[in-house]
Amino acid sequence: MPIKTTVFDYPKIGPNRELKKAVESYWKKEISKEELYKQAENINLGRINTIKNAGIDIIPSNDFSLYDFILDLSTMFNVIPERFKNIEDGLDRYFAMARGSKDAVACEMTKWFDTNYHYIVPELTGNFKLLKNRPLESYKDIKEKLNIETKPVLVGPFTYIYLGKVYERKEGSLLMHMVKANESIKFKPFLFEIASIYNELLSELEEAGVKEVQLDEPALVLDLTEEETNALIEAYQIVMHNIKNLKVYVQTYYESLSNYEKIVNELPVSGIGLDFVVNDENLENIRKYGFPKGKTLIAGIVSGRDPWKTDYKKAVSLVKELINIVGEDNLIISNAAPLFHLPVSLEPEKGHLPENLIKLLSFANERLEELTTIRDIINNNKEIPEQNLQELRDSFKNEEVRKAISNIDESKIGRKEDFKTRYKKQIQLLGLPRFPTTTIGSFPQTQEVRKKRADYRAGRITKEEYEEFIKKQIEYVIKLQEELELDVLVHGEFERTDMVEFFGEKMNGFAFTKNGWVQSYGSRCVRPPIIYSDVSRPEPMTVKEITYAQSLTNKPVKGMLTGPVTILNWSFYRKDIPKKEIAYQIALALKEEVLDLEKAGIKIIQIDEPAFREGLPLKKAKQKEYLDWAVKAFKLSNDTVKEETQIHTHMCYSEFNEIIEYIYAMDADVISIEASRSKGEILEAFEKFNYDHGIGLGVYDIHSPRIPSVEEMLEIAERSVKVIDKNLIWINPDCGLKTRGYEETIPALKNMVQVAKIMREKY
Ligand code: GLN
Ligand code: ZN
Repeated sequence: MPIKTTVFDYPKIGPNRELKKAVESYWKKEISKEELYKQAENINLGRINTIKNAGIDIIPSNDFSLYDFILDLSTMFNVIPERFKNIEDGLDRYFAMARGSKDAVACEMTKWFDTNYHYIVPELTGNFKLLKNRPLESYKDIKEKLNIETKPVLVGPFTYIYLGKVYERKEGSLLMHMVKANESIKFKPFLFEIASIYNELLSELEEAGVKEVQLDEPALVLDLTEEETNALIEAYQIVMHNIKNLKVYVQTYYESLSNYEKIVNELPVSGIGLDFVVNDENLENIRKYGFPKGKTLIAGIVSGRDPWKTDYKKAVSLVKELINIVGEDNLIISNAAPLFHLPVSLEPEKGHLPENLIKLLSFANERLEELTTIRDIINNNKEIPEQNLQELRDSFKNEEVRKAISNIDESKIGRKEDFKTRYKKQIQLLGLPRFPTTTIGSFPQTQEVRKKRADYRAGRITKEEYEEFIKKQIEYVIKLQEELELDVLVHGEFERTDMVEFFGEKMNGFAFTKNGWVQSYGSRCVRPPIIYSDVSRPEPMTVKEITYAQSLTNKPVKGMLTGPVTILNWSFYRKDIPKKEIAYQIALALKEEVLDLEKAGIKIIQIDEPAFREGLPLKKAKQKEYLDWAVKAFKLSNDTVKEETQIHTHMCYSEFNEIIEYIYAMDADVISIEASRSKGEILEAFEKFNYDHGIGLGVYDIHSPRIPSVEEMLEIAERSVKVIDKNLIWINPDCGLKTRGYEETIPALKNMVQVAKIMREKY
């Protein structure tokens, strides 16, 4: 029998972000609910037709969503928090859970595994019910409209519960806290309860004549304990109870399956999907432990995570090896991870991106073609298409950069003088008071700023006009910050749309697509840069604006850069050299910028690393290696400055517990962190560790338009002096002010400066 192809989780946004436009128009009440449903249906049918016309054998359904596929499950399983129950209309309730409403705060949103997708966290309280069977509706609908059999796809019970949160009372505390479900005692009861709901759902599918269904279980690649693995198998016994004719495939991705032998053998399902692209671990396991007879292997052989063209020779030889192990009849080939991490199509980029780069790329539509090509090579003995991937990559090579990288002596990375000596000199030289105040970098990006930037990009105004405008903005914020009596000033970042794009556009080795949008959450899409060759800096990137700002004031102005790890983690990056090497290349380019800023008289340089934690590998055993080189990459970007030059970094999240020693090892003179939303709780991690470098407390939550009072900010600041040396504490907002308006920013900063003044008097 010939092998078959399938795909899953193809992009939902539409070729030109039609979904975003439809959903946002509905929010703005520009279109009706019926109109939204109609447009959404057109987008979905368009996706399915694309997959069908590409010649894919097993076509997915139910992998479309108006906002988020986890939220779809929650509303289907009656996981609807009390505070939304008074909203009658189902669709409005759905969006309210995602985005909040007048009287109910939104459900938490968080990162989906190690990707840049974000899902709405289920608030689990038990009492699950199957309110509707969307996979069945989707199956029937497509059968009726397009007359095709499909395979409904949905996230499976284990992952759904694992990623949820549960209200629990902490020991010794009166307050209820949301804790991660997998760390809660309710994990197993909830898992078994939802398992019977899945059983009900599958029974209905079976009854309606559905032939196969896919349950996505990416949580099975995490480090599962033996207890969790046993619970998984027990739960699937419930899921599969009395299911006879419906084939159930469990799909895993983003990493290798954990506890391979036990899970592939004992999970009572028809097939298991494995990711053969992310690394070789699944392949090694299948070679070593084999694969159970009679089960189907869904082999993920083309990437869903990165945009690089599949190497046909390698893929074909992999498929042949898998056929030898499981047999042709039991093999389906597919994408290795959801395709929604990729842009829809490469077509719009032709003529825009360099020709040699186009030949190296594959987006979602191109993945479909790759799969059918590989299938036809195997089934019909077609010839393997010529590819000269290495030659193409070599055409971009920059020998000088490669040499600089191989010359790095890792043992020598780091500043020469110790922190205490440096810091003392810095504070003296800068003439800073105790509790110095500063901001994180950007000031409000008003309508006017955005419009001018767009005008410049579109060629409606000249470079001179644009630069003149930026200068005026800088003059305005410098004056404003002086009036507010802030101690360390910033230039406001008006020339930057995005903190990664700005630097990527100025460095060699980066490409920017015209239409390469990828869903980040809900209607929000991003266009990640593509790092396709060796990175270098042809000329200074920020010196002009920073030195201009510095020329306007006697107070120190911070140089403002995005760090190497963040630039890397927020881009698509090449796979032909180790990730670490790319980080070092970016670090060396930034180092030139840092030294140029220093030479130009800039005394404080901030290197932002908000995405430092995002690259953390899913498997714990791999995290140390990542953190080690990530720390080194950061240090490499600034370790040759003079001791009196002060290096800042900024991270705007609050999960430091597990990584604090690495944060410390970055050896920044000052780190600014979030401290407002966590009400200073974040300080516990720093206290426990005895963190003794400068800390900027983000006492003001910039994510809300509310103006924080002196009292509430003071409370956090006062809490901090109990656990941190007062001479090390800085006062600042918790992130850049770019999304705020001046009408909130000015009074909020006024209050913040007031807090510093009170602190100086009191302590
Ligand atoms: N310097 C950046 C800004 O102020 C930092 C942004 C961030 O942390 N995401 O906008
Ligand atoms: Zn931030």
